[in-house]
Amino acid sequence: MSSEIMSYSVPFVRGSTRVVGVFGYPVEHSLSPAMHNAAFAALQIPYIYVPFPVAPQALGTAIRSLYALGIVGVNLTIPHKEAVLPFLDEITPEAREIGAVNTVHAIEGRLLGDNTDGVGFYAPLQELGIRVAGQQVVVLGAGGSARAVVFRLVREGARVLLVNRNPESAERLARAVAEAGYGDVVRTQGRIAPEEWAEWLAGSTLLVNTTPVGMHPHEDAMPAVPLEAFHSDLRVYDLIYNPVETVLLREARLRGCRTLAGVKMLVSQGAAAFQRWTGLWPPTDVMESAVLEGLRARNSQGT
Ligand code: NAP
Repeated sequence: MSSEIMSYSVPFVRGSTRVVGVFGYPVEHSLSPAMHNAAFAALQIPYIYVPFPVAPQALGTAIRSLYALGIVGVNLTIPHKEAVLPFLDEITPEAREIGAVNTVHAIEGRLLGDNTDGVGFYAPLQELGIRVAGQQVVVLGAGGSARAVVFRLVREGARVLLVNRNPESAERLARAVAEAGYGDVVRTQGRIAPEEWAEWLAGSTLLVNTTPVGMHPHEDAMPAVPLEAFHSDLRVYDLIYNPVETVLLREARLRGCRTLAGVKMLVSQGAAAFQRWTGLWPPTDVMESAVLEGLRARNSQGT
């Protein structure tokens, strides 16, 4: 028997076991099953988290089957986060602002959609006592995760400078924030000149990378930011979780900046979903260890 097979632990499933999971396509690389199942085991509660490969055309049938199968809830990942919206009975204000749902809870005959990316992004900052109210924050990227990050930042009272390769996406996000009633707290910029960068970073206390630049398998890449303008009051947060320390974070650390890795956000957004489904706060240290172990296994297999 190979060591890989021997290392599998079979959860004790019985009639009363409650099922949660993730709908994605593909879904086999998701770290969420390891993260949630480790927390269920640590708390010794009768739940199991299952990955479901749901093709785009099957999403409606799959999501409506939650009732039929007695499934408590699911996470949604690519490509379902926006497509699921028409199938839900209720959507939280945060998910509506972000325009995407990553957590569904089947409760009292209704399907409730939430987005825990914003709270998952912000919780690690709170844990470190980092306040963003009244602060200027530079956000790189204007895609799906940037929406969650920017809405959370402006909700918490930050001013945001948004830098994106395609300036139109950044403009769209800034407009969405203004239309949601937060005012013109987001300024946008496509390509920016070095002297502008220096000015922006000098006035900022947080830089957030929401682009995939530097993500496995392109670990040597780094977003185009001027490292010489980094200062010791600047915190640098990279949403990428593989590798755990990106080149951006390493360079920032070497320049005396405090850094935050995307693994923290991954665990926090999962913890918020876990709490919604079970009513319990999970052991986030156990979840983080499971994610790190999953990343090590994934990288050693070259996947
Ligand atoms: P997305 O919706 O595809 O958005 C990607 C953004 O990055 C876009 O604004 C895109 O710019 C920009 N971008 C892409 N490639 C670029 C390049 N080569 N140079 C400059 N800009 C580039 O992706 P997403 O869902 O937001 O995810 C982005 C990253 O966040 C991924 O690495 C993902 O793993 C990570 N993430 C982490 C967590 C977590 O829990 N830690 C959660 C969500 C996402 P254009 O508009 O010009 O195309």
